Amino acid sequence: MNDINMTYEEALSHAPNEEPARQYFFIERCQDMLEKLKESSGKEAFTFHIATFGCQMNSRDSEKLQGILEAIGFVETDTEEADFVLYNTCTVRENANDRVYGRLGFLNGLKKKNPHMMIALCGCMMQEEKVVAKIKKSYRFVDIIFGTHNIFKLAELIHERLEAKKMVVDIWEGTDRIVEDLPTERKYPFKSGVNIMFGCNNFCSYCIVPYVRGRERSRNPEDIVEEVRQLAADGVVEIMLLGQNVNSYGTSSENPVSFAELLTRIDQVEGLERIRFMTSHPKDLSDELIEAMKKSKKVCSHLHLPLQSGSSRVLKIMNRKYTRERYLELVEKIKTAMPDISLTTDIIVGFPGETEEDFQETLDVVRKVRFDSAFTFIYSKRTGTPAADMEEISPDVVKNRFDRLLAEVQKISAEVCGRDEHTVQKVLAEEVNDYEKGLLTGRMSNNTTVHFKGDPSLIGKIVDVHLDESKGFYYMGTLA
Ligand code: SF4
Repeated sequence: MNDINMTYEEALSHAPNEEPARQYFFIERCQDMLEKLKESSGKEAFTFHIATFGCQMNSRDSEKLQGILEAIGFVETDTEEADFVLYNTCTVRENANDRVYGRLGFLNGLKKKNPHMMIALCGCMMQEEKVVAKIKKSYRFVDIIFGTHNIFKLAELIHERLEAKKMVVDIWEGTDRIVEDLPTERKYPFKSGVNIMFGCNNFCSYCIVPYVRGRERSRNPEDIVEEVRQLAADGVVEIMLLGQNVNSYGTSSENPVSFAELLTRIDQVEGLERIRFMTSHPKDLSDELIEAMKKSKKVCSHLHLPLQSGSSRVLKIMNRKYTRERYLELVEKIKTAMPDISLTTDIIVGFPGETEEDFQETLDVVRKVRFDSAFTFIYSKRTGTPAADMEEISPDVVKNRFDRLLAEVQKISAEVCGRDEHTVQKVLAEEVNDYEKGLLTGRMSNNTTVHFKGDPSLIGKIVDVHLDESKGFYYMGTLA
């Protein structure tokens, strides 16, 4: 029974306890409530806008949140002048929080003009107690606050907000629960992220993620394969398997299935053409996984393997649990098994206590591995992590090292990335090029971008492209 005339208390007592049935019950009630609101306000549609900050995990969460909002009946708009605005926040960098507070002031101005407007906040930043306390005290116009463990509950939270007419705060410290089979809306029809696990157990000393996303939880392999099967049946040709540390997939499960085994199972899904995954932690990258990647025809020729530092001494303080030697050995094994693979990485410069000697070791690893590209970051203190209490080094020294690293990375990258010039490669056409009319932009298996002339009807298809000219980080090509 789901009668819109039920009181709030009656509705709660009738809601199923099991998921996802409970959420579908609230989606239905929210649909009716929204219809009533439309009638009383004279509005034809109630719009929503989601602003996503941070990593690919957040982007995937936002697709799920969008699916729920659309199931309720909200219509997407690309401006924040919407009836429902949701910020899916990130807290990895200290100043990210300040930016959210700044934007909330702007939203408050919009809300004063639109009495129906609801403002919701979710994501990693909301898992921090002091943030929630500050919003409750100083940003009382916010309607809904929830965290990273309960995004599946959005319909229930909106229902509560509409009924109770006061700020709804629902933050869980942790959970073993993973709710499957809720509506989700994909940004691209031909590619999709697929979460395989949530949380992280590694506690790298500079990182806040384990504190806000909780301990590692892996989804059942059967549920993952089924999701991929459905996506492929729906026209998806490329998936990105997502987790903070995909290489330790399954280790916390009752009946462990390794990441390598999971890849092998996904590899067999008909219609799927490309498999990517991130993020890989070097300490957990097994020989079994290298073998599975080598055997697969679908796993892309690209591995993102965060180095962070080339000094074993700094890696120890970072709590990364591998040494420079182990990293280099791993790269050697990977390159021997897959000589064409493209390797990319993340490097932090200026970690507390990093000496010139340590930095030289990082440069040395960069020269030895010859990464296709490297995301280089200046260390930035994150309150709440062990590294935040360590003594920082002079910003001038850090800036100087950063510039030297960037120059080295770019020089190598320009040499390495041009290696496929004048060959024909498979390219997934992804979008119309915004800058030059008539061009499409796509990606090769090794993740390099290619621009080529083509009809928009090719978007979502894997086509043969001749790589006419290397431009350092991308190619200009022609359909072959
Ligand atoms: S592996 Fe380290 S850097 Fe990555 S999310 Fe976990 S703690 Fe953070």
